[in-house]
Amino acid sequence: MFRNFLKAAVACLFTATLVAPASFAQSRQQTPPPAQPAAQQAPPSTDITHITDEALVWLQDLVRINTTNPPGNELVAAKYIGTVLQKENIPFEIFESTPGRGFLVARLNAGPFPDPSRALILMAHLDVVGVDTTKWTVDPFAGVIKDNYIYGRGVIDDKGMLAANLAVFIMLKRTNAHLNRDVILLAEGDEEAGGNDGMIFAVQKHWDKIAAAYAINEEGRVIVSNGKVQYVGIQAGEKVPVNVNVIATGTSGHGSIPRPDNAVVHLSAAVEKIGGYEAPIQLNTITRAYFEGLAKIEDDETSKWMRALETSERQEHAARIISQSPIWNSMMRDTIAPTMLQAGIRANVVPSMARATLNIRLLPGNLLEPLLGKLTQLVNDPQVHFEPQTSIGQPAPSSPVDSDFFNEITVTAANEFPGVTVIPMMSTGATDSQQLRLRSVKAYGLLPFPLPEAEVMRMHADDERLPIDSFRKGVLFLDHIVIGFAVSQ
Ligand SMILES: [Zn+2]
Repeated sequence: MFRNFLKAAVACLFTATLVAPASFAQSRQQTPPPAQPAAQQAPPSTDITHITDEALVWLQDLVRINTTNPPGNELVAAKYIGTVLQKENIPFEIFESTPGRGFLVARLNAGPFPDPSRALILMAHLDVVGVDTTKWTVDPFAGVIKDNYIYGRGVIDDKGMLAANLAVFIMLKRTNAHLNRDVILLAEGDEEAGGNDGMIFAVQKHWDKIAAAYAINEEGRVIVSNGKVQYVGIQAGEKVPVNVNVIATGTSGHGSIPRPDNAVVHLSAAVEKIGGYEAPIQLNTITRAYFEGLAKIEDDETSKWMRALETSERQEHAARIISQSPIWNSMMRDTIAPTMLQAGIRANVVPSMARATLNIRLLPGNLLEPLLGKLTQLVNDPQVHFEPQTSIGQPAPSSPVDSDFFNEITVTAANEFPGVTVIPMMSTGATDSQQLRLRSVKAYGLLPFPLPEAEVMRMHADDERLPIDSFRKGVLFLDHIVIGFAVSQ
């Protein structure tokens, strides 16, 4: 089926037909348009397979706008999206948080007035993480197309989804889709650095512009194995990041006269104990369903232990085996990663203070205090104390895995990829969905592009790339989800 689609898509690519404005029903069926004589001014295509060509150009253009965060400079990309929307006569607004940064929002309303109680947000972030250009085989900001891949920082995270959202949004407008709920396009900045200049600014200062009941955002997966889509993971929750300083104090003095209260020594001992600590296993609604779903497609041995997670007598042993995978380990417990160390100013000066930074990821609903209590007990050293940094993440509730939107995505995935397993996922990292979930929006993560795990791992890495076929398929998948949920048939 995937192959057939690809053939059709390629055929469209080389058929220089002019597409007359089609009714919505026509465009849904994706039937090849009748050939018509060429004209000077072609009306915009209402065929989704054609719009994937346009979306690929938007993606290339967006990659060429360097939005490495910091500094971000996301508004250049926001304005670019604005020019694309302008051509479609879709009004949009750009809000600036600090010079050059902020977000873009546009909406298509179902009725005469905005109705946040049913609205759906299509969202993606404009900023990207940095690159080590010496490690890339192509210019990461050139939008290079090579061997049927588009290369560039952000093509997976998250400009691919940005371009896909834009395509789906514009299709709704071009086809005059009969919306049964408002659809909001949101392109926000500063996701990669916590969101103060992006999503946090948007929800705190301009909530009226984005208030909605549902959202679809990054994360989630369409995982390909042996050339076939193996499972679709819908992100419904995420862990909460908290940075905590571990501070050891001692007597400063001359390096030639060491004392037992040396802060570096006490910090080192504390970090070693913290590094060896494992928080207890905790499964929640999402991770239970995740392992249950994955057990259907994993090898026999792994499946056996995934199923055993649910049995009280074997849970501990099963968890030990499953947690050999660092990602699965992180999905089952609060984790603590020591990430930074600071101490001393000279080789011959004993410092009075030494500091480590812990990057802690709490399971949704878990609080920091009990964990710090446990660590204080474990370290058991009056010279050592813990100080949470001020940028503490707020614990957001997970989105339900039985909502109408979750079900819509599940049904569409099953139609799109027959026989596929659909499972909810909990991210170990954080996304902008957290800000929405704190405001009761049912937000789900689904990067719609079918990708093998190895390609997903290029996110944030060198030579980030997206197969062009996957990009096209992802645009269609997203389009079908949005049509299923927001358009009256
Ligand atoms: Zn991202």
